[in-house]
Amino acid sequence: MFKEIINDEKIFTLLEETKNYSVSQIKSIINKALQKQGLSLKEVAALLNVQDKELVSDILSCAKKVKEEIYGKRIVIFAPMYVTNECVNDCLYCGFRCSNTELKRRTLSIDEIKEETTLLTKMGHKRILLVCGEHPKYANADFVAEAVRAVYSSKDAKNQIRRINVNVAPLTVEDFAKIKKEGIGTYQMFQETYHRETYEKMHPLGPKSSYETRITAFEKAFSAGIDDLGAGVLFGLFDYKYEVLAMISHCEYLEKTIGVGPHTISVPRIEPALNAPAAGKVPYPINDEEFAKLVSIIRLAVPYTGIILTTRETKELRAKLIHLGVSQVSAGSKTNPGGYEEAEHNMPDEQQFAVGDFRTLDEVVRDLSKAGFIPSFCTGCYRKGRTGIDFMAITKPGLIQQFCQPNALATFKEYLLDYASEETRKIGEALIKSELEKFAKIEDKENAKKMLDRTQKGERDIFC
Ligand code: SAM
Ligand code: SF4
Repeated sequence: MFKEIINDEKIFTLLEETKNYSVSQIKSIINKALQKQGLSLKEVAALLNVQDKELVSDILSCAKKVKEEIYGKRIVIFAPMYVTNECVNDCLYCGFRCSNTELKRRTLSIDEIKEETTLLTKMGHKRILLVCGEHPKYANADFVAEAVRAVYSSKDAKNQIRRINVNVAPLTVEDFAKIKKEGIGTYQMFQETYHRETYEKMHPLGPKSSYETRITAFEKAFSAGIDDLGAGVLFGLFDYKYEVLAMISHCEYLEKTIGVGPHTISVPRIEPALNAPAAGKVPYPINDEEFAKLVSIIRLAVPYTGIILTTRETKELRAKLIHLGVSQVSAGSKTNPGGYEEAEHNMPDEQQFAVGDFRTLDEVVRDLSKAGFIPSFCTGCYRKGRTGIDFMAITKPGLIQQFCQPNALATFKEYLLDYASEETRKIGEALIKSELEKFAKIEDKENAKKMLDRTQKGERDIFC
């Protein structure tokens, strides 16, 4: 039955058949990718097999071009919020695994969730990803729904969280409907590995040991009304070529069956974690060059899908990958429940894994601005109902540009006025000025100018 979603024989055959493609065959695939219409599975397999340094560099350049044409210089910013590290699963790579007896378990109370929200809004965040372990008592759908409600209800004078995405274990349709009702944005869930045998080895205990439950979760979420779905692979568990090809097959399958592929794809790589054997000795380590290549290939295969890169990676690598395909990054993240509270709670023995980028949100915003990228806190599409199929229908013909750029600039301006350091504000204001000059259509420029003026005068949360 699941062969329809992931057909191992097909994936391995495609990887074998495309091993010896000629330079001209690869170049013609790269040329096709420039048209921003995506690639077939066979073409993706061929690119994954490329080893030649010059051709790899051509793939990277092509991804850079496609990324810039579709996303311009915008980078969406968010922060994770961990609400419980209780878990009944025993994933061999994760610090929250149930057999990790050294981990200090903590579940935030609703008041604590509100406090964490306040700390995030005080930094200037507008978008969060709510994360938790899987536990019938501490992390059930009612708790997640209540947590979402608590976050949305926490407002200070200047700010509030405007979009909550959620990364929780697969739920039943009924439970998905409960969290949808609270107004979640994307339902994010990583398959971890699409390779069944590896999957079973990595997930020996608990509900997560069912490959079936995981691979069918998006269809359940969709039938509960959640149409922004976020896929991902935990890179390092199995061969990356197989994983990328399998994930793209999964996207194709979703598009065929529910009419919409994932809204985002995440590309986490395994990071060190307390008492997690597969994080101590990564089964299929991926070096930075291979990682840059695979991110570029995903960009070319599914040009309109957002790619998310978190603070698992170092600031140097993040700076490189935002050129090649990444369109969303987290900033100032903590991976333990209550992590945004005082420093004494930021203990390695409460964390899921160790982060690789320790910059504050202000530093991330400044560095992005210096590199010419516009940090965007936009939540416009989801709040205007441009989600799922509707989102893709306006994105694919390039119609989203008229919304994204003004919304990005207005939310960036809000951040600069309300939260940025003096240094960041100066760099950011100069960037906004130069970006205003780049609008191709005069009416879009006028619209952006008006939104910026209103923001300058004190209005907040303006979006189109
Ligand atoms: N517990 C739920 C689940 O597993 O689906 C949801 C949240 S889990 C905390 C979020 C993700 O963290 C996992 O899907 C996994 O890919 C990732 N993760 C776990 N251990 C990791 C590690 N050592 N390094 C990097 N990412 C890790
Ligand atoms: Fe639990 Fe998720 Fe960590 Fe697995 S990855 S141990 S399910 S929190």
